[in-house]
Amino acid sequence: MSRLSVVLPAYNEELMAAKTCRVLKEVLDGAGIAYELVLVDDGSKDNTWNEIVKAGKRDPNILGVHFSRNFGKEAAVFAGLAQSTGDVVAVMDCDLQHPPETLIEMYHLWEEGYEIIEGVKTSRGKESALHKKSADFFYGIMSKVTKVDMQNASDFKMMDRKAVNSILSMPERNMFFRATSSWVGYKTAYVNFEVREREAGESKWSTWSLIKYAFTNIVAFTTMPLQIITVVGSVCFLCSLVLIIYSLVQYFRGFAVAGYTTTLIVLLLIGSAIMVSLGIIGYYISKIYEEVKRRPRYIVSKIIRGSEDAYDQANHD
Ligand code: UDP
Ligand code: MG
Repeated sequence: MSRLSVVLPAYNEELMAAKTCRVLKEVLDGAGIAYELVLVDDGSKDNTWNEIVKAGKRDPNILGVHFSRNFGKEAAVFAGLAQSTGDVVAVMDCDLQHPPETLIEMYHLWEEGYEIIEGVKTSRGKESALHKKSADFFYGIMSKVTKVDMQNASDFKMMDRKAVNSILSMPERNMFFRATSSWVGYKTAYVNFEVREREAGESKWSTWSLIKYAFTNIVAFTTMPLQIITVVGSVCFLCSLVLIIYSLVQYFRGFAVAGYTTTLIVLLLIGSAIMVSLGIIGYYISKIYEEVKRRPRYIVSKIIRGSEDAYDQANHD
């Protein structure tokens, strides 16, 4: 019989971890689906790990992975995928904002032969205006680049073991999970779900962390900004050709182009274009540097399987 692994990244989720496990157990047992819950404690500063250990004592189907520090959600998802053993693996948030019942719908689609089942948000839940604007901007760019509608894409998905292995085989350290799952291809289905409100605890995203997330992921997924530099450079070059010709014509007709202001404007414009471009290039270089160092994506400090210590199986990748 096939088994479903559910990967749950958890950062400071002491209020939700136990409840999420309980609800998932109920829902999956109810549907007669054999399961395993992979909870990845992303270096929480609260009692999340103790809650996971306690949950493991109650339910032998719980696998707990503890990071040595906070490595971010993408790393936690990756660790969960790497530790999961099911034939099909779902990834969902640990705060029950992704409805557990949708897992069953996804599971049936998997049984029908779909290899990747993407959760699509029908509503975004409650968000601040600034949050929504920045999210719209970021996903707008991402949609153009990936040619997949990212506006309503989510990290809630189910993947066949084959797709999981493809994702795990990618060597890059900075990975944008949400887009990568569509990049790998495979037979894909979409399931709509409504984002629920968080019952307890708080969102881990500040506006600043979202901006950082946006930049990191754009750079991780595309080199488009570098191509934009080329385009901007070419446009600048064309403009300056026009200006050169105009100035020369004026010169030979005996007038000089009004000097100081023009020079200043051109100088400032080109100067700032060059600096922004260098900044973008610098950001890519810093990312290349990070990748080249080949540090592990995360460091696992503890692993439990049910009530047993399973650290020896950790591969530290
Ligand atoms: N999360 C994580 N590491 C982090 C931040 C968040 O593993 O550094 C987890 C968090 O515990 C939750 C999921 O990612 O399960 C989504 O986070 P959150 O609910 O804060 O995001 P939101 O739903 O507000 O987008
Ligand atoms: Mg949430």
